Parts: sequence; structure tokens; C-alpha cells
Amino acid sequence: MFLKVLPPLAPKSWIRHFSICQLPQELQVIQETCRNFADRELKPIASELDRNGRFPFEQISKLADLGFMRVTVDSAYGGSGMTMLALSLIVEELSRGCGSTGSIVSIHNCLYGNLLNRVGTTEQKQLFFGKYSNSTIGAFALSESNAGSDVAALSTRAVEDGDSWILHGTKAWVTSAAEAKCGIVFATVDPSLKHKGIAAFLIDFEQANGLTVGRNEDKLGIRATSTCDLCLDNVRIPKSNLLGSHNGGFRLAMEQLDRARVGIASQALGIAQAALEAAIQYAGQRIAFGQSLLKRTSVQTRIAEMAVRIESSRLLVRKAAVELDQGMKATKSCAMAKWIAGETATYAAHNCQQIMGGMGYVKDMPAERFYRDARITEIYGGVTDVQKTIVAENVIREQGE
Ligand SMILES: Cc1cc2nc3c(=O)[nH]c(=O)nc-3n(C[C@H](O)[C@H](O)[C@H](O)COP(=O)(O)OP(=O)(O)OC[C@H]3O[C@@H](n4cnc5c(N)ncnc54)[C@H](O)[C@@H]3O)c2cc1C
Repeated sequence: MFLKVLPPLAPKSWIRHFSICQLPQELQVIQETCRNFADRELKPIASELDRNGRFPFEQISKLADLGFMRVTVDSAYGGSGMTMLALSLIVEELSRGCGSTGSIVSIHNCLYGNLLNRVGTTEQKQLFFGKYSNSTIGAFALSESNAGSDVAALSTRAVEDGDSWILHGTKAWVTSAAEAKCGIVFATVDPSLKHKGIAAFLIDFEQANGLTVGRNEDKLGIRATSTCDLCLDNVRIPKSNLLGSHNGGFRLAMEQLDRARVGIASQALGIAQAALEAAIQYAGQRIAFGQSLLKRTSVQTRIAEMAVRIESSRLLVRKAAVELDQGMKATKSCAMAKWIAGETATYAAHNCQQIMGGMGYVKDMPAERFYRDARITEIYGGVTDVQKTIVAENVIREQGE
């Protein structure tokens, strides 16, 4: 279906000739497709989705038809075989229309599809990609109530029993847990080994006796997404569902969080861009003291500050995505991108609200939703404080100290 809509992608060799300022034509087409989709399908309903906490099933299904729900998955498993840079553009444009939809697409692609495609065995990929349609959501369950930033402290246990693994514990904050039919769950096979005892497991939720989804958290923003506990009461899964090695789960999680940070930073960029556009549109129509708000230096300064932060964040996000695509160790760039793009989203939404005055504070206009949606990009996938630590450690190491 994807190929019917878009021209075939050039081989990944184009990455070598990549210029951050000029996207290759095939990526411009993807960007345009998503921009139009956001304007037509998401922007008109984003406020209603938010108000009613309604998951956008119909739009996710259309995005799956366009090839955007298995963006980086190989074509052999129903994917589009695209790059992280393409995924970043897709998430940015969709988030410009609806922060919740951008979040759903980002987490599913970056943390489930990409990880299974990257690390799964042929059998695992055939099983999990094969059983479900492209629009089926996969979850990523790493965090627990006492293990967020400190992931190594997780306590969900996995015990070998004959041909099975038995998992017991409660995962927290799982995005799309209410809609997901499958997921990747992290548990410790040996708590004495701390982070080296963590492993990743594929779970088919439909076949997992003892697995229940907790209540949907009542959140500040991205309210059209579900965020729930995943309770595992001695859930028995086949031994073959171990993803990667017994003691490789922590490393997998860290590698995957680099990719998730590009996705979250792209979500932040989309929200920031939407805030900038809404602010300019409002200011152009609002007359105060006999002239358009756009003529006011203070408003122009706010617009200029938003624009420059968005543009510089965008360059960092694209740099991080390209580094991942080139197989480079991109941890520092991903942390930089997420930190700056997250803060930019909050900054842009805040300034959009200020430019709109009272109208920025009420639900008739999207500014207050932008602000609520922006905040999560500074929290999930690793809080900003942790991103700063990652950047500092890398910079100090690079200098040989
Ligand atoms: C809406 C939502 C969706 C989510 N989706 C998922 C998901 O799909 N899958 C998943 O696994 N998780 C998910 N999470 C969990 C999310 O990644 C964690 O909430 C996040 O990593 C922070 O962990 P925490 O909440 O335990 O905060 P804590 O780790 O307790 O951090 C709280 C604060 O303490 C400080 N702090 C903590 N550690 C450090 C440090 N090392 N250096 C400096 N300061 C520090 C910071 O100020 C930080 O903001 C989601 C969370 C939310 C809110």
C-alpha cells in the first residue's frame, strides 16, 4: 500500500550524501505526505481526541496503510524499510497535527517495531509481525514505579521453568498498554547481577494468562494515549520469546532509548512548530491599540526566539537520526536532541499562550493543549536532568578526562 502512494525509496546509500539543510526528494515526499495527513486528518480532531481521551484508531489504521506504523521494519515483515531520519520526519509532522497521535506512532515505532526488527530472530519476527496487522500496536514495558530513571532497580522477575519463562511483577507507565496486543517486557533473571541480570521478553498479550492492564492514568497531556500499569501474575511464555541474550536486556534498553529519544524529540519539534504557526496566525488577526499584534516588537521577539530554538533543535534531531542511520554511537547526540527539543516545545507552547493572552488559556484555542502535550517530552524516555548527565559524561570522556 505504501508503495502505491510514495515513490520507491532510494537505497540507504543516500545517507552518505546527506545534507542536513536539503532533504533528499524521497524524504521530502514523505514529509509532505505526513504534513497533509496532519492538516486533513489530525488537526481538525486533535482537540476532541484530547477532551475525550479517545484513541485515534481510524487514523492509526490509515497511517498503517501508508506504511507509517512499521517505518523501520524490513519489507519481509510488512515494514517500509525506512531510516530513523524518515521516522523522525513522520513523527514531527504528525505531532504538528496532534501530539497524542505523534506519541503513539513514535513509541510504537521506536520502542517496539524497531527493537523487534533490530534484535529479533527470524522466527520471532515472523511470529510477532506475522500474526498481527500493521496497525496493531506494540508496547515497551521497561519502567516500574520504583525504577524510572534508575532502570537497573527494576524488580519484575523472570524465572526459567522447563520450556517456559514465568514472569511476575508490575510494569508502570506503559504507553498504549490498553490498545497493545503485544509488547516487549523487561525483567530480571538474577537480581544479584543488578543491570547485568536484566533480559527482554516478547509477550503476546492475547495468549498471556495472568496478564492484566491497570487503569488508564489521568494525565496532564497526550490525553488521547493510554498509559497504564501492566500486571504480570506468573505469566508463562515460551522460552523462545527471550529477545536477545539472558543478560543483554539492559544494553538493549539503553540502545533503544537512544532511538526513542529521536522519536520524542521529533514529537517535541512538531508540537513546537504547531505552537509557532498558531501564534503567528493569531497575532496576525488580533488588533490591539489599533494595530496587528504582529507589528509589536515584543511579539516579534517571541516569534523570533521560538523560530530559532525550533530550527536549532531540528538540526540536532536530524544529526542524531543520521548518526543512528549510519550505525554510529549516537547516545550523546540523541540526549542533546531530546533535551533541547523538549525544552523548545515547552518554551514555544508557553510563548504561544502568552501571545494569545486570555485565549491562550482556554480550550477554544489549541495553545493550552500544546503546553500540556509538550511537557511529557521533557519527562518520558529519560528526564531532561538525565540527558544533561549523559551529555556531560560524553563530552568529558571525549576530552580524555
Ligand atoms: C505519559 C508517560 C508515558 C510513559 N511511557 C512509558 C513507556 O511506554 N514505557 C516505559 O518503560 N516507560 C514509560 N514512561 C516512564 C518514563 O520513562 C519515566 O517516568 C521517566 O523515565 C522518569 O522516571 P520516573 O518517573 O521514575 O522519575 P524519577 O526517576 O524518579 O525522576 C524524577 C526526577 O528526579 C531527578 N532525577 C532522577 N534521577 C536523576 C539523575 N540520575 N540525575 C539527575 N536527576 C535525576 C530529576 O529531576 C527527575 O525529573 C512513561 C511515563 C509517562 C509519564
